[in-house]
Parts: sequence; C-alpha cells; structure tokens
Amino acid sequence: MKELFELNRKYRDNAVLKKVRKPRIWKEKEHFDGKVKNAMVIILRTRGCRWSHLSGCTMCGYFKETYDAGYEELKEQIDYAFDRYNREEIVKFFTSGSFFDEREIPFELQEYALEKFGNAEKIIVETRPEFVKNAGRFDYPLEIAMGLESANDRVLEYSINKGFRFKPWLREARKVKEYGKRLRVYILIKPPFMKEREAIEDAVNAAFMVKDIADTISFNPMAVHGGTAVEGMWSRNIYRPPWLWSVVEVIKRTGEFYDGMIKCDVVAGGKSRGAHNCMKCDKDIIHAIEEFNLSQDIKVFDKLDCECREKWLDFIEMEEYMMG
Ligand code: SF4
Ligand SMILES: [Zn+2]
Repeated sequence: MKELFELNRKYRDNAVLKKVRKPRIWKEKEHFDGKVKNAMVIILRTRGCRWSHLSGCTMCGYFKETYDAGYEELKEQIDYAFDRYNREEIVKFFTSGSFFDEREIPFELQEYALEKFGNAEKIIVETRPEFVKNAGRFDYPLEIAMGLESANDRVLEYSINKGFRFKPWLREARKVKEYGKRLRVYILIKPPFMKEREAIEDAVNAAFMVKDIADTISFNPMAVHGGTAVEGMWSRNIYRPPWLWSVVEVIKRTGEFYDGMIKCDVVAGGKSRGAHNCMKCDKDIIHAIEEFNLSQDIKVFDKLDCECREKWLDFIEMEEYMMG
C-alpha cells in the first residue's frame, strides 16, 4: 500500500541514527537437540536492512542501530566478536538486516565470519527471502531465520508493509530446506490495525501454515520501537501491544499441532511498550514463557492465574462490539 510505504519512509527519514560502531554481544541459553545449550549473540553493525532503506516494516526500529561499516571495519567487528567467543554451542549472527545481503556484508566476509565460528553446533543468521539463495553457497550448520510475521497477505501489506507476500516467501523458505539447512520462522504477535482476537488467530494461522517446514517457530509479541509508525499509533492510544494472556494462548495452541521448537522472546515485557497484562502478574507470566523456551514443556502455563484473566476475556469480547 503506497500510503503505508510512504509513512514508514517518513519515519525513517526523520529518525536520528545512533551510529554505534561496536557489535553488541551477549550470552544466553537456548534449547537445542533436547538440551539447554550456551549461545552467543552477535549484532554486527552494518548498513542495515535493504527494505528499511526503501521504506521498512511498520514496527521495525532497527534502522536506528545501523552503521555503514566498510570492509575493514566489518572484519574488525567479526574479530572483536571472535575474541569474546567461548566455544558456545550456538552462535547467532544478527545484523538488523540480512546476513546474506552482500550490500550489508560482502560475500568474503560472510565466509570469513562463518568459517571463524564454523565449529559451533549451530550458527543462526537472519535474512529476508530475497537473499536466501546465497545460503546455498555455504557448508556450515546453519539455521536460517526468516521473518514472516503473518501468512495473511492483507496483513503483510496493509498492516506491516512487509514488502512481500506469503507465497513467494514460502518458495524461498522451501529453498532453505533444499539446501539442507534448518529454518527458523519469526511470527509477529499483534501487528497494528488488529483486534486482540484477530491477532491471536493470525499468529496461530501463520504457525499452522509453516508447521511442515519450520524447525523452529519464534513468536515475537509486538514491542513498540522508537521512531516507527507503530510508535505513532501507540502514543496516540490507538494501539496496545498484546496481552501476555494472548501470547500464552498462541504458544499453547501452536503446541497442539506443531512438533518443532517453539520460542518466544518477550521484548519490553510487562512494560506499556511491550506485551503486558495488569502489571501484577506480568513477571510470573514472562518467567513461565522463559521457562517454556528452555523446557518446551507446555505445562509451565498450567499454574498461571490472575484476576486480570477475566479482564482480558472481557476486553476481547468488548472489542468485537466496539469496532466494525
Ligand atoms: S522487520 Fe526485518 S524486514 Fe522489516 S524493516 Fe526490519 S529488518 Fe527489515
Ligand atoms: Zn494480572
């Protein structure tokens, strides 16, 4: 949609970039192969997502953390990360864009980075579908993470401005499997312009549509990034991030038909910019989701309860009457 395309572009043009030159690095745990393993996360500073240079997705503020590093600087960033590598089994190379886009990371440096960390059990990289074919050039234990967000073309176009439709995305996702790589699919919980019930159904539907090809489904409940169209709606009180009850429902329902790994990162959880409930029970629910990420045991949600659960159900019901 032209208006949304232009709106995102405007937000992007008005934003102040942070110009951070050092990669951001942290360590975390992750469930893989039936065990809890150590993971190192590396955010390389590149010129960022090619789509965000044109327009960008309504919820994505990663463009603010980009920096147009030259060849030598990028190489230094990779070396800097390697100096901090402690043989973690899983390495995640993120760029706020697409690892396989040669405008972000030249091919030789993609190779250089993967070779350095090539002994890891799994290296996770993110990419938009248009660059997937480059993944076939590498013989490393890669998991390719692709943002799908929604499998509904109307949502992709009118709500997220994702810049692709479901079918072409699926074609590229299948290539990941043809190359013998693992596939991780990101699904957004509660894009803008959606009621809470619609958002739950949309996320579960997206999971259902990829259940046969995804090795990991990773749910991202909306977090309101600064300088985005979603922030514009949120600050005018016409957008609320999802309830944590909705997030739990999406995970539980996905677990009923999906055998692969389900993950959910609740960024800004319990805050008004992120998925939240009544503020009293938020910590317990986020803790249960974190526990679920490591155990994959859906029973962790059984013990959760709070008086706001009724409020959430009422909210969903009221929304059905309030808006057309
Ligand atoms: S969400 Fe992904 S595809 Fe969309 S602008 Fe951000 S980095 Fe690019
Ligand atoms: Zn509560």
